[in-house]
Amino acid sequence: MSSGTPRPGDLDLCYQDDPELLPAAEAMRRIHAHVPLIEGSETVALGDALARVLAQDVAAPLDVPGHTNSAVDGYALAGAVLPREGEASLRIAGTALAGKAHAGAIGAGECVRIMTGAVMPAGTDTVVMQEHVSVIGEQVRIAAGHRAGQNVRHAGEDLRAGQIMLAAGAWLLPAALGMLASVGIAQVRVRRRLKVAFFSTGDELRSLGEPLEPGQVYDSNRYTLRGMLMRLGVDVIDLGVVRDDPERLREALDAACAAADVVLSSGGVSTGDADYVKRILEQRGQMGFWRIAVRPGRPLAFGRLGDAVFFGLPGNPVAVMMTFYQFVQPALLAMMGQRAPPPVPLLHAECAQALRKKAGRVEYYRAILTRDADGVLRVRPTGRTGSGLLHTMNDANCLIVLPDESGSLEAGSIVPVQPFFGLV
Ligand code: AMP
Ligand code: MG
Repeated sequence: MSSGTPRPGDLDLCYQDDPELLPAAEAMRRIHAHVPLIEGSETVALGDALARVLAQDVAAPLDVPGHTNSAVDGYALAGAVLPREGEASLRIAGTALAGKAHAGAIGAGECVRIMTGAVMPAGTDTVVMQEHVSVIGEQVRIAAGHRAGQNVRHAGEDLRAGQIMLAAGAWLLPAALGMLASVGIAQVRVRRRLKVAFFSTGDELRSLGEPLEPGQVYDSNRYTLRGMLMRLGVDVIDLGVVRDDPERLREALDAACAAADVVLSSGGVSTGDADYVKRILEQRGQMGFWRIAVRPGRPLAFGRLGDAVFFGLPGNPVAVMMTFYQFVQPALLAMMGQRAPPPVPLLHAECAQALRKKAGRVEYYRAILTRDADGVLRVRPTGRTGSGLLHTMNDANCLIVLPDESGSLEAGSIVPVQPFFGLV
């Protein structure tokens, strides 16, 4: 595809001859508009289903809890016998344990010693906590102030038999795995794993184990990419280093597209290299080269190669990570079928130093977020900002994200922050 009038069916990905930068939000919109949901599913044991995406709705086969039971350790009784004032005295008629019910009904003036999770005995609907009674021999004294029906968990109050407990597209995190186990489901139908192939480009790159000649660098992007991909639970296909040679690149792309749903390359898309990669890619599929209004990470190639989705990431190690997190990861989650990926958390913190910024692009600052003794969130940039300084990405625990419209900020400004880590 060349610049000019788009043909029918073309992605709106035209090569930007225009040096104007594409806004980050528009790049993300175009990506989302063009990534397909992967087809195919498989059945896996519940124990292996963490972080997979449910392929079909799951209905609860039974109620949870299956029986009405006590929420506390105490004494089960009929709410009607609770005193409005003064005290009531009840005889302990027996004991109900979790997994061992009290058989038979209770009589008037009786209660049952009950443990958390034990089935409520017939004729009882209320539990008084053991801390709130006095026990004298076989008698329990209960003062006024309790509510009929208290401290009881009702059958089906967590999950009701027949209800859709998890919908297709649900992301199976620990709580979902526990829910499935609670209704006895041992296997689940999940979407197949996304296959992602990646390679690095550059004559200067050497793989681990090879000696370094002057001017050569070890291929670190392959390992950051592998790490970021593995944390998403995709199948990774490492295609190694590809020399800056059209024939090798063409072979690598063909192999990658045949093997994977998504192909990622790093390097070779910055000004200078871009024409070279572009020529090959334009012959191979529908391709857009964007200069995105973000820093770091400006150049990004995106398109379709056969059935595969292609992202050409920049070569600088920090830019690779930034573009991956901001543009690739959301696309992969969408392809994996995650119905409602939680929004990336955004905190607000007081920035310890002034930030110089040009309006008209999104800027990400690697930064360290701390909470001071008063509970106030503070953030400070890691220092030097070069996009080859990978250690700054390791030092950081968050990104300060200044939006398009923001200009420079003074020290003490409140800034939006994306933390690297969430709770779950
Ligand atoms: P490029 O985008 O190919 O011009 O590369 C930009 C910078 O990133 C150059 O300094 C490259 O040496 C460096 N670079 C590219 N790919 C890698 C890689 N896989 N590992 C480490 N550094 C890389
Ligand atoms: Mg290069």
